[in-house]
Amino acid sequence: MVVAGFGRHVLVETESGQRLICHPRGKKSQVVVGDRIRWLPSQDEGTIEKIEERSNLFYRQDEMRTKSFAANLDQILILIAAEPEFSESQLTRALIAAEAERIKPIIALNKSDLAEPFGRAWTKLAPYRAMGYQVLPLAIKPKTAAAPANDGQTAELMALLHGKKTLVLGPSGAGKSSLTNLLVPQAKVLTAEISQALNSGKHTTTSTTLYWVDEARTTALIDSPGFQEFGLHHIDPMQLANYMPDFKAHAQDCKFYNCTHLHEPGCGVISEVKSTVSASSISANRYRLYSELFAELSQTRY
Ligand code: GDP
Ligand code: ZN
Repeated sequence: MVVAGFGRHVLVETESGQRLICHPRGKKSQVVVGDRIRWLPSQDEGTIEKIEERSNLFYRQDEMRTKSFAANLDQILILIAAEPEFSESQLTRALIAAEAERIKPIIALNKSDLAEPFGRAWTKLAPYRAMGYQVLPLAIKPKTAAAPANDGQTAELMALLHGKKTLVLGPSGAGKSSLTNLLVPQAKVLTAEISQALNSGKHTTTSTTLYWVDEARTTALIDSPGFQEFGLHHIDPMQLANYMPDFKAHAQDCKFYNCTHLHEPGCGVISEVKSTVSASSISANRYRLYSELFAELSQTRY
């Protein structure tokens, strides 16, 4: 399994736990962290012969570039915090990326020790809880001494991570490094070693790294430095509403089967957004994000 990647060279871990650097054979194949590969030895390194079929594949969006970077994940942990304020756009993109690949997203809201901003952020997440997403309060590194409740929250997170490969995503300042240091205290040393091995002194590029949380190598965190936003270009805009639970519930009422929910008459989504009878279960924010994403994904496709 590929456990770290620097450009085209990857660090591979064998079933017995040995690690070696592998290189792709062709120019085209993009190997990513989480990939299972077959390789052949060449001196003390390896040549990648085959990438096994993936159960899922994820892309990251860096400025104008989209790049695959992780595969075969079990779940995604979206780490946000009471402060700095999180972006609903990033959150929505992450949830859609997970839904499109049929894996479970967990939202964790860190800094529960900061009462006031925490309350506001928790309220901002109410629509997401109503959609059925799990939102876990956390205090990874509280300012004041940990209240007993914090241990319970961390234990709950550990239970959710157990036995799974989890990609951690979060805006900077949310507590991603604090979480990695808590669960994988040796992470920094490992990163330095890997970076040295793969770059052999050359300029360091961003890497995606898989860290084992336990010695049995069953629970893993995947960290991708600088990763803020998923690339979604592979998603058909006509499928978008299927990946948004608040939309999906009302899209069933649309008059046209190929409704875009943007302007059609008899659209269940639009009538819910405009509903004056009761509070709409689709927030204005989510509808705006949907329209923006629809336009973005239509552009990249045609
Ligand atoms: P990253 O940028 O996502 O890697 O975030 P860091 O782990 O570096 O954390 C950003 C800041 O938030 C640091 O100053 C941490 O000490 C602080 N922090 C992390 N967890 C908590 C928490 O639970 N409560 C509070 N109040 N601060 C936290
Ligand atoms: Zn519609």
